[in-house]
Amino acid sequence: MDFLDRIQQKKAEMITTLQELLAIPSVEADPAGPDAPFGREIARALEYVLAWGERHGFTTKNLSGYAGHLEYGTGDELVGVLVHLDVVPAGEGWRYPPFSGTVADGKIYGRGANDDKGPAVAVMYALKALKDSGVKLGKKIRIIFGCDEESGWQCMKHYFKHERKPDYGFTPDACFPLINSEKGQMALKFEGDATVDGDGVVLQVFTGGTRRNVVPEHAEAVLLFPDHEGLERGKAAILAQGIDGIEAFVLPEKNQLKVSAQGVSAHGSTPEQGDNAVTKLAQALAPVEGGGSAWAAVRFIRERFGRETNGRGLGINCQDEVSGALTLNLGVVRTEGGKIWMEVDIRSPQSADHETMKEKIAAHLPPYGLEIVESSMMAPHYLPADHHLVQVLLQVYREETGDMSPPVATGGRTYAMTLGNGVAFGPGFPGQPETAHQKDEYIAVEDLMRCTRIYAKALYALAKEE
Ligand SMILES: [Zn+2]
Repeated sequence: MDFLDRIQQKKAEMITTLQELLAIPSVEADPAGPDAPFGREIARALEYVLAWGERHGFTTKNLSGYAGHLEYGTGDELVGVLVHLDVVPAGEGWRYPPFSGTVADGKIYGRGANDDKGPAVAVMYALKALKDSGVKLGKKIRIIFGCDEESGWQCMKHYFKHERKPDYGFTPDACFPLINSEKGQMALKFEGDATVDGDGVVLQVFTGGTRRNVVPEHAEAVLLFPDHEGLERGKAAILAQGIDGIEAFVLPEKNQLKVSAQGVSAHGSTPEQGDNAVTKLAQALAPVEGGGSAWAAVRFIRERFGRETNGRGLGINCQDEVSGALTLNLGVVRTEGGKIWMEVDIRSPQSADHETMKEKIAAHLPPYGLEIVESSMMAPHYLPADHHLVQVLLQVYREETGDMSPPVATGGRTYAMTLGNGVAFGPGFPGQPETAHQKDEYIAVEDLMRCTRIYAKALYALAKEE
């Protein structure tokens, strides 16, 4: 029997397997013993898929709970598929319990249904169908299960310390047709003193945002004025600018004013789709700015970030044909213990040089009393459109869907770069709503089946006997 027929026959079993995997709340937690570095539940999810692999006759390996794989076939070359079993916390407001795997309206609901347990089950059954159909393969195929993709990527560091890299592969953890260009990423933390100076307005609190890679939805500042008259004048001056989403409240304590900014959240890799509450607040406070280093830091935000997301104020704006424009997100700001610090997430085009960028940024900081106290960088990742892997996967996708869309460039990061010769391939189809990391995450049953067919054909095309 053809492997595609075998996939169709396993539909009910696939749904059950995905439901059982979704029922394990594999959110990262503290280590729970030697083989559970990310907590008991993630370890259980890994044990679950490896036990499934053993039951179906695959070679399996558990690397101390960091990651694992199941393998099929023989040959010198290795084709790898990277999926992950950890999920982000469920959050509130779900229509169905987030760890139930409820099937309704042709959809399987649950945290991880789309990111990334649904795709994991799809590749598991794709490989099983190839194996059961007895097609001749000339290469080994490995499904590699990562266990902390959503947090530190320690899983892949550990895995590739002990195991060889696949010769090529894909990670079904984003969207179709495929992603062949991922921007570089630079994470920076700036810090400075937050002292006050003179007898002007005192900035007591300036805070906003939750995570570096999320556009802040909310920010607020607390100001202390020398007298009540000054407070009324300051409040009026702030509000007179007519900036959308800015409110000011007189606090019960003497001469204190709270100013809040409401923005729109978005992912840190697409800051232009959001409305940054922190930079908006810095702009709103301009009419009441006082002396001292806390105000200098706010002035830095206003002058060097402004309301833009392209890094122009820091002199790092750039773009290229392959990946588009640099983006920058000021994700978190806090005043704390006499200090002010802020966290920035920069996604840079293929052509940008991280060291030069960092030098340019650092040169802008001293006048504002700030310095870089933490920095980390991740190189960009790119496979040209005429690369064999890109060609093979595109062809399989196009045959199955009829969609001729070109490969995609993104500012997001996937496991593809850890593969080297790798791209992100599915599971989201063009035009579908994004449900990963949101409430009511789901995968449609028909999409699960369609993904499985695509992955089976792709693995066959990559690993078949030449
Ligand atoms: Zn994911």
